[in-house]
Amino acid sequence: NAKENGGDRFSFYEEGMSSETELRLEMENHLRHAIARDEFRLHYQPVIHLESNTLRGVEVLLRWENAALNNPGPDQFIAVAENSGLIVDIGRWVLEQACKQVVAWSNAGLKPLSLAVNISAKQFISGDLLENVRYALSQSGLAASQLELEITEGLLINDTSEIRDTFSQLKKLGVNLSLDDFGTGYASLSYLKRYPFDTLKIDRSFVHDIDSCEESVTLTNAIIAMGHSFNMTVIAEGVENLKQRRILRERHCDMVQGFLYSPPLQADQFVAWAKRYAEMQISQHI
Ligand code: C2E
Ligand code: MG
Ligand code: MG
Ligand code: MG
Repeated sequence: NAKENGGDRFSFYEEGMSSETELRLEMENHLRHAIARDEFRLHYQPVIHLESNTLRGVEVLLRWENAALNNPGPDQFIAVAENSGLIVDIGRWVLEQACKQVVAWSNAGLKPLSLAVNISAKQFISGDLLENVRYALSQSGLAASQLELEITEGLLINDTSEIRDTFSQLKKLGVNLSLDDFGTGYASLSYLKRYPFDTLKIDRSFVHDIDSCEESVTLTNAIIAMGHSFNMTVIAEGVENLKQRRILRERHCDMVQGFLYSPPLQADQFVAWAKRYAEMQISQHI
């Protein structure tokens, strides 16, 4: 206990606190200029339809090249972007760039893919999400039905009429809504009744041990069945090996993502991966 150990310890503790705050502020200052300095990169992870083994779409995941901060991952910088409000501008940038990229791919001969974009609660509440989505679609030419917005349960805890309005207007626009990281938050099943999600994403913490833990299989099975009874497409995240894939396939999970297929890739690497994957499909078929 710091107080019992005297003043020195206590001040040491405070120093620790303030340097963490300093780091956060430093990160915030860097984030403020990251778009203008062209430090963000978008990576794309394939989403695979399990029964046919075909590529269906991608999830876009943000990367930040900032050597001074040692290239922090999204688990470090997204929270800072959210707390500072910068996520609204950053999120708009991600949405616009990713829509353009997916259209560019189909113009270059790749089949049309669906695009999943992570959306923070702050963006949802800021009020111009609907406008941003409309703009990103019309500017890029991406069909609304190709776009899927991923949100987490955290947003729904507030459950205001404003959120419900935005939700139904997005649905009217024709974009898909996806409940990300399902099972990790304060999941209230009543959300599924009030918010007509198109897709349910099983968090990778469940998927990760279905190859070794019978209880995780039971839980995953229940989530898939529940998703289907609400007419939702079910996606499993974090599929890393064939055994996990086989179990998910037996339980009729619709889609999978994970290192078994590919980690998130830069745009040109993704194109190369997609070509290799399609060729592999053909040769397996013969
Ligand atoms: P998420 O939306 O749940 O994304 C899935 C995360 O799982 C990604 O981490 C992905 O790289 C990782 N992953 C995929 N397959 C596997 C696997 O087989 N094994 C393991 N161990 N991990 C796998 P990433 O890219 O570090 O992103 C972390 C989180 O940061 C995302 O979780 C998302 O919540 C957030 N994030 C990323 N990009 C954005 C963005 O553009 N906007 C917002 N608001 N959040 C973002
Ligand atoms: Mg996601
Ligand atoms: Mg997410
Ligand atoms: Mg997730």
